[in-house]
Amino acid sequence: MAGIYIHIPFCKQKCTYCDFHFSTSFDSYRIKMLDWMLHELELRKSELKNELIETIYFGGGTPSLLTQEEISSFIQKIRKIHSVCVNVEITLEANPDDIGEESVSSWKKVGVNRLSIGLQSFDDEDLSWMNRAHNSAESLKAVQIAQNAGIINISIDLIYGLPNMNAQRWEKQLEIAIQLNVSHISAYCLTIEEKTVLYKLVQNKKIIPSENEIQAIHFEILQNKLKKAGFIQYEISNFAKENFYSKHNSSYWKGEKYQGIGPSAHSFDRKSRSWNIANNHQYISRLSENILPLDKEELSSKDLFNEMLLIGLRTIWGVSFEKLADIKPLTENFTSKVNQLILEEKAQIKNNCMILNPKGMLFADAIAQDLFI
Ligand code: SF4
Repeated sequence: MAGIYIHIPFCKQKCTYCDFHFSTSFDSYRIKMLDWMLHELELRKSELKNELIETIYFGGGTPSLLTQEEISSFIQKIRKIHSVCVNVEITLEANPDDIGEESVSSWKKVGVNRLSIGLQSFDDEDLSWMNRAHNSAESLKAVQIAQNAGIINISIDLIYGLPNMNAQRWEKQLEIAIQLNVSHISAYCLTIEEKTVLYKLVQNKKIIPSENEIQAIHFEILQNKLKKAGFIQYEISNFAKENFYSKHNSSYWKGEKYQGIGPSAHSFDRKSRSWNIANNHQYISRLSENILPLDKEELSSKDLFNEMLLIGLRTIWGVSFEKLADIKPLTENFTSKVNQLILEEKAQIKNNCMILNPKGMLFADAIAQDLFI
């Protein structure tokens, strides 16, 4: 079983905090880019030979900028060259300003059955300094349009730990989100990445970032409020109603195979990792010379062990001692650190897996790093 990720490297405008790969001036080569991405799917089809495709994920960038025909061309191509599961999950990331009755019904027609809506906030002030292309009224309307169109698998993205965001403001955001009655919420803590507009604003003291302690309080509020509202925290930043976990993202976290198509997209085949060049023009020029636009690295047993810990400890499934030991024998030092985490009530053992408790989740990355070999 495998998943396919399609990275659409275009956006209407640059959000201040974003360090993903995208271009805002793409009109002159948009069609050419999409054609070369279809070509990449063809060129790399043998990588997914004998695999059943369970999930297709349009991410970016902004996939909701594509037309019905453009989205359909990718789905049709995948159906033509691969075996696709009958109940394949097809997700489209969509920005609220691209969501209308017509667009949603056109996406549905071509097979999209899950929408991941980039709301980020219901506060117009926040949306404005983030330089998002939508306002909060459009966010609310977007969810309603998608629900009216019969899409039940809807995820929304939120960001917490924002400058000037106090606990009350974050609680209010979550209350609005809960009232929307969506099946999935992804909530990310704002990080200030180099080479972003936000980084410069912070450097120039135009924006004062929120402190770690405040972000930790926001995380606890998030966990408590969404739990009360019936959501399951199945990954550190992802909350879903029962049966609405993202199949695509879960496959990343469970170490399944996936292929990433388009500039900057990553792929994993259980033994190696590869990443496509994060430059639109170089991506096209490499493919036009019949060269795959990617770099690849074989993962050592140390890499596989550490990665399994890092990813597994962020999820509800935890990390399997048996699978870790298959890669490298577990040492006494490792076992004593695990026992200490249990004593501190940061972790528990279930079915021979170590699973972090809500208290441990806050430190998931640091805990994993401490257990690395
Ligand atoms: S956050 Fe999304 S819409 Fe904004 S620039 Fe990044 S990829 Fe584009």
